[in-house]
Amino acid sequence: MSSANFLVNDSKYDFLKRLGIQHKNLGVYDTEWRGKGPVIQSICPANNKVIAEVVTGDVQDYETAVKAAHSAWSVWTDIPAPQRGEIVRQIGNALREHKTDLGRLVALEMGKILSEGEGEVQEYIDICDYAVGLSRMIDGKVLPSERPGHVLMENWNPLGCIGIITAFNFPVAVFGWNNALALVCGDTMLWKSAPTTPLCSIAVTKIVSTIFEANSLPGAICSLVCGGADVGEKMATDTRLPLVSFTGSTGVGQKVGLAVQNRFGKSILELGGNNAIIVCEDADVDMAIRAAIFACAGTAGQRCTTTRRLILHEKIYDKVIDGLKKAFAQIRVGDPLDANVLYGPLHTKSSVQTYLSVVSEAVKEGGRVECGGKAIEREGNFVEPTIITGLPHDSPLVQRETFAPIVYALKFTSLDEAIGWNNEVKQGLSSSLFTTNLNNIFKWMGPKGSDCGIVNVNIPTNGAEIGGAFGGEKHTGGGRESGSDSWKQYMRRSTCTINYGKQLPLAQGIKFE
Ligand code: NAD
Repeated sequence: MSSANFLVNDSKYDFLKRLGIQHKNLGVYDTEWRGKGPVIQSICPANNKVIAEVVTGDVQDYETAVKAAHSAWSVWTDIPAPQRGEIVRQIGNALREHKTDLGRLVALEMGKILSEGEGEVQEYIDICDYAVGLSRMIDGKVLPSERPGHVLMENWNPLGCIGIITAFNFPVAVFGWNNALALVCGDTMLWKSAPTTPLCSIAVTKIVSTIFEANSLPGAICSLVCGGADVGEKMATDTRLPLVSFTGSTGVGQKVGLAVQNRFGKSILELGGNNAIIVCEDADVDMAIRAAIFACAGTAGQRCTTTRRLILHEKIYDKVIDGLKKAFAQIRVGDPLDANVLYGPLHTKSSVQTYLSVVSEAVKEGGRVECGGKAIEREGNFVEPTIITGLPHDSPLVQRETFAPIVYALKFTSLDEAIGWNNEVKQGLSSSLFTTNLNNIFKWMGPKGSDCGIVNVNIPTNGAEIGGAFGGEKHTGGGRESGSDSWKQYMRRSTCTINYGKQLPLAQGIKFE
């Protein structure tokens, strides 16, 4: 394809130019834009046409960028936290100005529908607001000392320059969660985005860097390297990055987590999910069906929190399956940029192959395709939302995450059995219970309930708010990002004991005289 035919040159996508995207883009930023790694093409999943090209960063580019981000830290960390919050407030406002255009870019490059693309930008704006407030509230405890004339207190300090590695499916929001919190905490950062969504990270970095420039601060505070696994591997072993926040698959996350641990660094791991909705016989079944449509087919099954298992009470099983089949048959499929469309493509051609091979494996294993199961005849990577019944709850396919719109339906008789199935998978990200029974709700939230990081009632497994801590247990990695006290991971805690008296008493009454 000649560069004249790149989508960036099509007036239909004029928002790309407004975001500073050209037909060839430098993919490394550390106060200036550079790049001398391989040139890659960003492909639109809705039609497999080239949007634009990116000159990625190689390992040498990484080396320069990490040095720049590292030395920018001594400037950034001297700025008082509320003033860092003021910079984050300006970033939030700049994102507000670009929300529509950036949301469109997410839809064009990742393939999620427009309202979800804009939703990602909104999530970033929301976490900026949150971080601005946090910048005046970062606190530490003052605890009673057992020794006379002593004060025992906690003090929180920034970590330094941190690494952020992100997945393709949330090309803006996941960076946003890390970026806003880490900035007010006083960290600088180096971001390695997913190789198939480089334009989103370039557009975000252009927006963020204008704020640093306008405030005469080094842009390297938020550095970017668009690169591949080689750059990610470097980050995992780099002792200059005291924290690596990794979002992606469990397999890669395990490698990154081990490499970071090997050097006693800190990691935040946000890995794969295998999320279930349980629908009890007393549930509002219509509400459960509406929730499951978004949970299973939303983002064409490409959220870490997508529902992959529907655990249905035997008395309402048929009603839920019938309702979902009708809804899936009517779902409005098409170009994610069309505001009327609810269901877009898979991200890459290879995801379509994975989807098709999992469907055929399921059939071989004795599964029944209730609806879907095929690629959709149109340009782009479109596949049908799919329900598979008849596989046992513990079959290897049901137990693994397939990043596509395939949901396995299982029939249960008792809530204990359903909770057991919810918990028996290796992942522990999100879970939802549909019930109107208060006893069920508290059991679900309690020690013998869901073992996931996200435990919902009467809402889908996906679509979390920024105020809560986001993440999951077991093979989901145990990390928490976004709200609640997640900020603590971007700082180091010192326990400070200060003697303001004239004596030197030892703790536990120990005498050493
Ligand atoms: P992926 O693991 O293939 O890639 C994630 C990132 O890791 C990319 O930037 C990639 O370039 C980089 N990478 C690849 N090999 C590496 C290596 N050896 N060392 C360091 N970095 C390396 O994941 P993906 O396909 O982009 O995303 C989908 C997966 O992410 C799914 O499993 C999904 O559940 C998960 N995810 C989890 C969350 C969460 O919050 N728990 C959020 C979004 C996505």
